[in-house]
Amino acid sequence: MRKSQLKKYAKLLVKAGLNVKKGQTVFVQAGLDQPEFVATVVEECYKAGAREVYVEWSYQPAEKLNALYMSQEDLSRLTPWGEAKWAYKAEKYACRLFIESEDPDGMKGVDVQKMSEARKALFPQVKKYRDLLENRHQWCIAAVPGAAWAKKVFPDLSEKRAIEKLWQAILYTSRADGKNPIAAWKEHNANLKKRCEYLNSLSLTALEYKSANGTDFKVWLNEDGVFAAGSEKTRGGRVFHPNIPSEEVFTSPKAGKAEGIVYSTKPLSYQGELIENFSVRFTGGKVTEVKAEKGEEQLKKMVAMDEGAAMLGECAIIPFDSPINNSGILFYNTLFDENASCHLALGKGFNECLKDYDKYSDEECKRRGINESMIHVDFMIGSRDMNITGVTASGERVAILKDGNWAF
Ligand code: ZN
Repeated sequence: MRKSQLKKYAKLLVKAGLNVKKGQTVFVQAGLDQPEFVATVVEECYKAGAREVYVEWSYQPAEKLNALYMSQEDLSRLTPWGEAKWAYKAEKYACRLFIESEDPDGMKGVDVQKMSEARKALFPQVKKYRDLLENRHQWCIAAVPGAAWAKKVFPDLSEKRAIEKLWQAILYTSRADGKNPIAAWKEHNANLKKRCEYLNSLSLTALEYKSANGTDFKVWLNEDGVFAAGSEKTRGGRVFHPNIPSEEVFTSPKAGKAEGIVYSTKPLSYQGELIENFSVRFTGGKVTEVKAEKGEEQLKKMVAMDEGAAMLGECAIIPFDSPINNSGILFYNTLFDENASCHLALGKGFNECLKDYDKYSDEECKRRGINESMIHVDFMIGSRDMNITGVTASGERVAILKDGNWAF
């Protein structure tokens, strides 16, 4: 990939993604796959006025060895230096950039039960810091190609060709392959905001999903819920783009109020394993049955992680003709695959999907219907023939998605 284009992409992540301002602290989490690109990102952060930039390198094969050899007890312990880092990030409201490049199969073979128990035990130890950062810091998730990931997506190509191809796909779907990616993002963002405005003007109380594969599902929305998309704002008023790419218009539904069954339309890559051809049934707002041709055990463990893991945290609407879907590529990475089609997420909801959320504490947001959980896992249910109908307070029915695409 041309260096000049990668520089533009780095700038997009720093200026539009994080929106780094003068004097800020930045943490970049990255693998060892594209170190030159990561250095370019660091430089762009300083050019944007960052005071200090720290890269937290990770190497998946080494992490896998930890997962294999360390005891569950040790994996469950927040180390003193780990805690000090969290505390520093929270104190500085540090910007956090996550650059993904991992092998989707990279953790295959690790004890899933052990890892999920460790994650469960770690969660309360970092919650204090997460809560301090929530809605108060700028963050962004984006991706660069790793060799193993690229080979997984393009198995028939040489490693070099596969990486180049994945770069192209990442930049294309991130709208970063043109002359001015930042301007392209601005335009895309304005478009998404317009869709939100219309949806929010309807004051919907529920969404009904139907598609020929058997999906027949209704979910209720919060009284003061709002649809969101694209950029977000911290409580301090700083605008940032948490996901690049992002195509979704989403809301957090009322926790504990959903009925019916949904069928997956794409495999779900969860903790290094693929869950395929699955269905999730909701009764009284909670998952009461899951079935999967592949990975059913994993799926069952996922919804049992905590109370909120069996309830919905997100409903996202994406037209079937999205650039990611049109690319025809299965990325085996949620950041991309979740933007390919309509999805739901089990687990944690988003406070910012409530009107005036910044006036409420996290507890109050929960009371108003935002789900709470240690997980947030998206899974795809969008299809070419999916219809979504909105129901208003007066019982009026409004077409939202017709045959897979926007009805308005
Ligand atoms: Zn989503």
